[in-house]
Amino acid sequence: MSAEIIDGKKIAAEIRQRLKEEIAADTHEDLPVLAVVLVGENPASQIYVRNKKKAAEEIGMGCEVVEFAESIGENALLHSLEELNENPHINGIIVQQPLPSQINLQKVLEAILPEKDVDGFSPYNAGLLQIKDPSAIVAATPKAVLTLLQKQLGDLSGKHAVIIGRSNIVGKPLALLLLNHDCTVTIAHSKTKNLSALCQEADILVCATGKAKMVKKDWVKKGAVVIDVGINRLENGKLCGDVDFDEVQKHAAAITPVPGGVGPMTIAMLLENTWEAFKKQKNQEKTCHCGHHHDCCCHSHKSHE
Ligand code: NDP
Repeated sequence: MSAEIIDGKKIAAEIRQRLKEEIAADTHEDLPVLAVVLVGENPASQIYVRNKKKAAEEIGMGCEVVEFAESIGENALLHSLEELNENPHINGIIVQQPLPSQINLQKVLEAILPEKDVDGFSPYNAGLLQIKDPSAIVAATPKAVLTLLQKQLGDLSGKHAVIIGRSNIVGKPLALLLLNHDCTVTIAHSKTKNLSALCQEADILVCATGKAKMVKKDWVKKGAVVIDVGINRLENGKLCGDVDFDEVQKHAAAITPVPGGVGPMTIAMLLENTWEAFKKQKNQEKTCHCGHHHDCCCHSHKSHE
């Protein structure tokens, strides 16, 4: 038996096409705009930012890349985020990571207005996810994994999901998201004992460790769905995931490839988050009669609605 290959590239293309049509059909005069803050000249970050800009523009979304020198001070960066928060033409703001060491990442994430935090990394949106508030903006990679799983399996209720990795941007929010969809969730990490035995229990196995090919065939229960979040560059320059694809694909029911799995879906989800944020902001403007944006009284007083 050979696993079904979950074609993230194709599913992402369909989502981008839907967004493109929705944006084109929208009656608003202005377009959604994503601001991407890029600090320094990390070559990988530059490629990621370029790809996000290209993908945004292809669906008719604006994308402003705001670039700063590696040496920028924390206050100057925070100030620029404030300006983006206040700019009514910007609907989504993301800060490309990693940031240089003089900048406190947490302060930066807290500085982004929650309704423009389309990466969903701010403590506010992370908190909304935790209390299962439907207005949470959910981080793109966990959302990508959920979307692929729902497409593959339909209802996820009662499935046992094992997630290897507990980062704030992948493992933890994904665990909450799957819990909110009634999975039984186990989170594994570098201190987990008997990891392979634990993984064998999984109906859904997600690996997000950044360790090339660590998940082997005998870690995977027959019939399990395997989602590989990892992106690793091998010595020969090729990309590979955290799962030993050639081995595991003979065993699993379905598996995502790397590249072409979670990666393209992540960008599609970021665009979707920005489009949703734009629509919400426009609706808020409509219900607001005082003409202000973020500090508007109608955010706190129902009587204005
Ligand atoms: P982090 O380095 O922040 O987290 C890695 C996690 O994996 C940690 O929780 C760590 O455990 C755990 N881990 C590491 N080694 C092992 C091991 N041998 N056994 C068990 N657990 C282990 O990474 P990220 O979450 O940011 O990213 C993970 C991977 O996903 C990377 O390859 C990254 O490039 C990729 N990625 C892909 C994206 C996409 O769009 N496809 C988006 C984001 C990330 P501990 O906490 O104990 O240290």
